[in-house]
Amino acid sequence: MDRRITKEELKLAVTEAYKRFRENREGKNADYIPYLAHIDSNLFGIAVCLPGGETITVGDCDYRFGIESISKVATALLVLKDYGPETIMDMIGADATGMPFNSVLAILLENEHPSTPLVNAGAISAVSMVRPVGNSCGKWEAIQSNINQLCGNVLPLIDELYKSESASNSNNRAIAWLLKNYGRIYDEPEISLDLYTRQCSLGVTAKELSIMAATIACSGYNPVTKKSVFPPQLTEKITSMMATVGLYEYTGDWMFRCGIPAKSGVGGGIIGVLPGIFGIAAFSPPIDKAGNSVRAQLAIRYIMEQLRLNIFSGERVVIV
Ligand code: GLN
Repeated sequence: MDRRITKEELKLAVTEAYKRFRENREGKNADYIPYLAHIDSNLFGIAVCLPGGETITVGDCDYRFGIESISKVATALLVLKDYGPETIMDMIGADATGMPFNSVLAILLENEHPSTPLVNAGAISAVSMVRPVGNSCGKWEAIQSNINQLCGNVLPLIDELYKSESASNSNNRAIAWLLKNYGRIYDEPEISLDLYTRQCSLGVTAKELSIMAATIACSGYNPVTKKSVFPPQLTEKITSMMATVGLYEYTGDWMFRCGIPAKSGVGGGIIGVLPGIFGIAAFSPPIDKAGNSVRAQLAIRYIMEQLRLNIFSGERVVIV
């Protein structure tokens, strides 16, 4: 027998999470990308999107912020769709590095075994695989169109963020060229770096992110636009990657505590996917040492605990 959770109970948990953590002052805005340092640290929003397409939102869910590393999930799906999971395993991999998202050391240590499209190195590799290879404009169209379909809206580029990030991404440039050295980048390093930087600079809202998370939770079917974005069998592939490395070196602690595959971005967003149940997104700029929003983690954790949800529990749950 399925355990039933009502939408009212869900709304209550979301509202309570917002109230509890609104005043939390831990963490601080990312400042290695100058644009991000100046975003209002008080912004906070939580959004949940259900398989029926209904969204529950509390707080700043229409504020547009940098999607940053959450874009890695979208582009991973794009290349998984285009090349198939086994080719992605061969060309990129699916292992956690246990190191920071922009680690150069991880590439040196793992050059025999590539890592995952959810850290910078693997994400730049993934971007390099997007077709048509060699055609920056065509690739950008493919990347954007895929993210737009996942989010159910057209995401604008935050030009100021793109400029700020392009002017400060020497570490990522080093990663792109090191990948070239190891034969793990499949297009021009500079084109791949630029497109990666651009996809990170797309502006998204917590509500749109919850729709993207729900599309993953609903086996590739966007419950708001009612269109299929990727084949159903990719949900388990992308959620397993999120469960492995979605919060970088804190992912094990996160999964142990919260039981929800998630992905963070240094812009302050986090998405969480409970297949068949819902997609959740929370946003607040102050981040912890690994680059994960503090308030967003607290909020998602609270909601998961409050409703006794956990991907590993084996319990069947429906939201009615
Ligand atoms: N664009 C950022 C970077 O490459 C994304 C990092 C993140 O969100 N964790 O550094």
